[in-house]
Amino acid sequence: MKLISIKRTVNEGASAFFTANDNNIALAFSPTKSFAGKFRCFVVASVAAIILSANASAVPSKISPVNNSAAPNNTSVKVAIAIHGGAGTILKKNMSAETEAAYIEVLTQAIKKGHEQLTLGKDGTLAVISAIQHMENSPLFNAGIGAVYTFDGIHELDAAIMHGENKQAGAVAGITTIKNPILAALTVMQKSEHVMLTSAGAETFSVLHGLETVDNTYFNTTRRYDALQKAKRRIIEASDSAFDFNSPQDLLAYQDYKFGTVGAVVLDADGNLVAGTSTGGMTAKRYGRIGDSPIIGAGTYADNDSCAVSATGHGEYFIRHNVASDICARVKYKGVSLQQAANTVLFDVLNSEAGSGGVIAIDKKGNIAMPFNTSGMYRASIDTQGKLTVSIYKD
Ligand code: ASP
Repeated sequence: MKLISIKRTVNEGASAFFTANDNNIALAFSPTKSFAGKFRCFVVASVAAIILSANASAVPSKISPVNNSAAPNNTSVKVAIAIHGGAGTILKKNMSAETEAAYIEVLTQAIKKGHEQLTLGKDGTLAVISAIQHMENSPLFNAGIGAVYTFDGIHELDAAIMHGENKQAGAVAGITTIKNPILAALTVMQKSEHVMLTSAGAETFSVLHGLETVDNTYFNTTRRYDALQKAKRRIIEASDSAFDFNSPQDLLAYQDYKFGTVGAVVLDADGNLVAGTSTGGMTAKRYGRIGDSPIIGAGTYADNDSCAVSATGHGEYFIRHNVASDICARVKYKGVSLQQAANTVLFDVLNSEAGSGGVIAIDKKGNIAMPFNTSGMYRASIDTQGKLTVSIYKD
């Protein structure tokens, strides 16, 4: 079992150990300063020891499909989580029952993994990582193994994580050989003095810290390859016509609006809000293009005083409008509800420029908002009452 050491620098200064294998998450915590913290860590360490000895059996590898029933909630403390697997032109009429069931199953597994960390009283960081890593390891999503292709036929991945307690954040962009980009983002947050590392430097740093590497072809899938061929045809057609890159209408016609980025936002038992996002970016991207996902404030943001947000959509618009932090700023400074703030940014600000996509957002009371201005968004949530919801289309 290969262990990667990740030092948590927030809250109690605990150390967490992640296996590189998604099915074998093992954790161990170091002592803390306060008595309450020490006692809590003793309990957590005991649980961790049991997890370590039980190993893979601690995390079920198979969970039956959801039927919107209540998820187990072992704590009286309020915790909540929301995840997304991308927004876009997702219509029921185009989806086979088999594919739909597959999405629902992976979303359900991912959110349960994240929620389990929260009910164990772990820091929200661990919940975000668990949920996102699970989706990165599924070919269904545009992150990790299902990542889209660049124009040149490779995969360049971006990811970010942010902790709302002290605004710590870590991000990587344009990486090509790290199996789980969200772990690279986490390592930047916890093991470096920087916020964002890119390309070769980010890879060197990740390797130095023991993250698992893969050949870039590991991320290959036929579905995404076909999407690249389609996008290339459109690009060639566009260059032959009077295509205007500043026209939202032209851009709408040019892009195949299925995003597929993954993200998670949580409220943990200590009242911390944490957000994370991981993506392959947009099909046929060129010239080292970076989207909104790894940009703190645009695609990922967390602030314990307002909310945590992870976005998916046409990244250029999300960058220009600083979408994630704009939603939190509206909650913080205007005092509007989370739902209202998220709706305004999605339906007024972004729609006015045809910027399409969606967000998941959570506030300090555990309220969850998941608006999107596309026809669908893969999404799931477990609220403070333990109620699990998994959805794909507009309800
Ligand atoms: N927002 C991502 C980007 O622009 C794409 C996505 O959400 O799938 O890179």
